[in-house]
Amino acid sequence: MGEWGLKGVPHKGWICVEVIDLADECDDCDEIEYGQCEMCGNEKIRFVHAMRHPDYPDILKVGCVCAEKMLDDYVSPRKREAAIRNKASRRKNFMRARWKYNPVKKTYSKKYKGEYITIVAGRYGGYGIYFAERSRWKDYSGNKINDFKTAENVAFEFYEEYYTTKYERDCICCL
Ligand SMILES: [Zn+2]
Repeated sequence: MGEWGLKGVPHKGWICVEVIDLADECDDCDEIEYGQCEMCGNEKIRFVHAMRHPDYPDILKVGCVCAEKMLDDYVSPRKREAAIRNKASRRKNFMRARWKYNPVKKTYSKKYKGEYITIVAGRYGGYGIYFAERSRWKDYSGNKINDFKTAENVAFEFYEEYYTTKYERDCICCL
């Protein structure tokens, strides 16, 4: 490919809106559904960098190499991918630890890195999570937690909130 990128698409001056891990929440799938870079056509991208430009109408979803060029920043996109990758591996470990059901209290608990985290089914429906003397009954979008899978995800985020720094949690270095 002689010229990089699509015709009429600006090369510089982009900002990164978000980075999406296509393997996210892929706890037990065998194959990741890879994406394709909308800038160069590379077909095997796991991390999608969503890019916005003031003079271009669409958000472009691109791979790391193109994101670097479009941002003119050869550090942040990789850093951000590493942060997401690390989080994905922490998530995997967290999910691997088994919940133990307590029939008396009707709670599910697990000990993870020395701390107990507990999921409780609410009397009027929904689930709550207890951790480090705090509780949450809503997910991170502010909705009621209606199923156990969501409760597990919120439990992980709750744990993350407590044990990782803001930087590790959602490194926003390419914003
Ligand atoms: Zn590309």
